[in-house]
Amino acid sequence: MAYDPDNIFAKMLKGEIPCHKVYEDDDTLAFLDIMPRSEGHTLVIPKAQAENLFDVSPEVLAKTMAVVQKLAPQIQNAVGAEGILIQQFNGAAAGQTVFHLHFHIVPRKEGVDLKP
Ligand code: 5GP
Repeated sequence: MAYDPDNIFAKMLKGEIPCHKVYEDDDTLAFLDIMPRSEGHTLVIPKAQAENLFDVSPEVLAKTMAVVQKLAPQIQNAVGAEGILIQQFNGAAAGQTVFHLHFHIVPRKEGVDLKP
């Protein structure tokens, strides 16, 4: 499948639809998930056009993962979570619904189930 430049995250990057921004730099954007599975559920995306993990350069991937690594503990502290789930889907069959590469940062608290 070719990258769709009008996917919802591409529209966010173009400023065509709003998002609750958590972090931004030249290469990446992080924002709150609109349907959070836990308090603080955040998505980190590269600004480069990439449909999934296999459609991104190692350089862009490294920058994106560095942001995941930096933000995750900050988000964990901010919401008082004890752990952090990092999740990433490739392809509709795997559960991907937005076809712009993204990493979920999902704070987890002991004994608290994820929302569906
Ligand atoms: P995935 O493709 O990994 O299954 O999940 C896409 C994620 O994007 C979902 O968790 C969904 O809630 C989130 N999402 C979909 N549309 C929007 C939107 O318009 N704004 C925000 N902030 N998140 C969205």
